[in-house]
Amino acid sequence: MAPLPILQYPDPRLRLISAPVERFDEALHHRVDELFETLYASTGIGLSAPQVGDLRRIVVMDLSESRSKPELYINPEILSSDVMGLVEEGCLSIPGVVGNVIRATQVRVRAVDRTGHPFERDLEGMHAVCIQHEVDHLNGKLFIDRLPLIRRLALRASAMFKGTPEPVRPDSASPSTSPSPSAAPAPQPAPPPRNRPARPNSGEGRQLDGGPHPAPG
Ligand code: ZN
Repeated sequence: MAPLPILQYPDPRLRLISAPVERFDEALHHRVDELFETLYASTGIGLSAPQVGDLRRIVVMDLSESRSKPELYINPEILSSDVMGLVEEGCLSIPGVVGNVIRATQVRVRAVDRTGHPFERDLEGMHAVCIQHEVDHLNGKLFIDRLPLIRRLALRASAMFKGTPEPVRPDSASPSTSPSPSAAPAPQPAPPPRNRPARPNSGEGRQLDGGPHPAPG
């Protein structure tokens, strides 16, 4: 088994909505194993199936330093979110780009495991940030969509220079055909007060799902 190629921005497939997993068979287990292999071959701490061109709602994560605590979330839903913070994020699909994004640092997630068994879990710090970043991928949303307009325009210009521009969406835009409102990202909150820590501590120096820059997001 070899790591899978990861789609790179602005590949239009990164903008598609992924469908819920309905078949929990050997083919799914094989794909999950491939996703973990791809994650471990990268510098990231999370990876979503659509990033390898598989439009199913599958997320793998491992935030441990030893890369020995795999976490699998199939059909994940953010049930609740709290305590907003500003977090520096990167993405395996957008190498070389990092930016500060406002995220909840405490979330409750519902998902199913590889056998289809449901579970709920409370996630904090970079765990919470990572699952939100990956659920965004399942909805065709990228962390750069959450950056200030001026940054997004600069990225668009950069993509245009490469010959593959992508339109800049309004701040609140999400894909118009989203079938999964329960998995939609939380509304944009106000920035945190200045006396609050700027980012979760647990993920300092780590990356979300990638990029060569050693950013926590
Ligand atoms: Zn990403």
